[in-house]
Amino acid sequence: MDLILTDRSFHYELEKLCRLFYPEEPIKVSEDGSLPQQPDALLVFAGVEEQNAQTLLTAWVRSGGQKHRAQAVYVPEKYGDTGPERQLAELLYGLLVQQTGFTPRWGILTGVRPVKLLRSLAEQYGAEKARQVFSQAYHVSAAKTRLAQLTMENERQLLQRERPEGFSLYIGIPFCPSRCAYCSFVSMTVEKTIGMIPEYVACLCREIEAAGKTARDCGLTLQSVYMGGGTPTTLTPEQMDRVLGTVQTSFDLSACLEFTVEAGRPDTVTREKMDGLRRRGVTRVSINPQTMQERVLEAIGRRHTVQQVLDAFQIARDAGFADMNMDLIAGLPLDTPETFADTVNRVCALEPESITVHTLALKRSSAIFQEGRQRASGATAAQMLDYAGPKLLNSGYQPYYLYRQTRILGGLENVGFAKPGYESFYNAAIMDESQTILACGAGAGSKVCDPSGSGKLERVYNFKYPYEYISRHGEVLARKEKVKQIYEQYTAHGVCPLSK
Ligand code: SF4
Repeated sequence: MDLILTDRSFHYELEKLCRLFYPEEPIKVSEDGSLPQQPDALLVFAGVEEQNAQTLLTAWVRSGGQKHRAQAVYVPEKYGDTGPERQLAELLYGLLVQQTGFTPRWGILTGVRPVKLLRSLAEQYGAEKARQVFSQAYHVSAAKTRLAQLTMENERQLLQRERPEGFSLYIGIPFCPSRCAYCSFVSMTVEKTIGMIPEYVACLCREIEAAGKTARDCGLTLQSVYMGGGTPTTLTPEQMDRVLGTVQTSFDLSACLEFTVEAGRPDTVTREKMDGLRRRGVTRVSINPQTMQERVLEAIGRRHTVQQVLDAFQIARDAGFADMNMDLIAGLPLDTPETFADTVNRVCALEPESITVHTLALKRSSAIFQEGRQRASGATAAQMLDYAGPKLLNSGYQPYYLYRQTRILGGLENVGFAKPGYESFYNAAIMDESQTILACGAGAGSKVCDPSGSGKLERVYNFKYPYEYISRHGEVLARKEKVKQIYEQYTAHGVCPLSK
């Protein structure tokens, strides 16, 4: 697709809008308004020009010899401080709906955090007017508006537990038993990297100690710990014990609300490992079937069976875990609305304390994308979510965090549902971007938030790949010092000078 713009400042938003309708189409953006020569190419134009003291907005979409066109005069009174960008997006949105016959459930919203937008509208206008603006001005469907409202209410209660000097700790283990066909994460299979893991664990422990020092120096209070990946339970019981022991000795855990370890792949769960997690104070584990259909598991290369999911769940329960999450994905290859409904029913029957329903988001580096394998359409994924949401609500779960990803099927969403009292504080805090996160491990990124609540935050990233993380570990440790400097500058001046 060619996207032709006359104003480069609209590039980011309008490209994302086009991607909602053509998620797999490469998009070439031209910012000087010049048209390409191929007459049959899919072409989208969005332009702004001044004419007779008015701002004229023009959009058109040309595909297969058909052209839909719309024009409007910019109405500043209606679009306020969003400038002509939102009006132009609305104009283009109408044409793309017409052209494709597809109406995104989240309307013209392209952002990752729609609930954050609803909350800021509610603060500005009050709840009722915010609901109207959200659904009418942004064209969000009634069902998604309701979902966002419910999520916002539950999330708000959770975020009230945030302390100004609070922070969360993230620990990344970027190793997995095998690579899932939909994965684009920088995770390395154990077969290829087993020799690297001991050195990785040693470096990780040094970084956790450095993070502990940073937290003490800054006077930060640890509120939650999340060990994710990859698949953390790929580590041996001894390696895991070393990492968790380092967390215990490096931080004061007395104010910690939850300690999660992702035991994502059921084939990595053993009683010995679960007992080890319990002994080290882990309170929450996530066992992620993604699907309860054998042929779908096989199609996505998970290399475990449905029975192994059931066994892993029982092992964790028997070890004493009373707070367990399970992840599902809507839109996987070979899955249908009927088989997905069966998956949801079977997972609900296990009664985990929380269930996270993702929608497939295919990055270009995933095997499914690379090999052009069959997958569900956006409409099919929407049907799956239409079943999951009401079923979970009727089973006593409430949505408490929600986010969207680039190239997510149908422009849909990922939602964390939990039984009351079992919402993950970490998930809400990371989604809201309102709490400092100290992150350790390859590919992890720390977020340093201004504790005054100004909304300012700075990110400090680690190296992406484990071998770099190990070979340049001195630099990794130095970056923990940088986190400290940023935090101290916030607290000394009220504003982070690095963000100027
Ligand atoms: S378990 Fe997660 S991180 Fe690991 S390969 Fe599968 S999708 Fe990727």
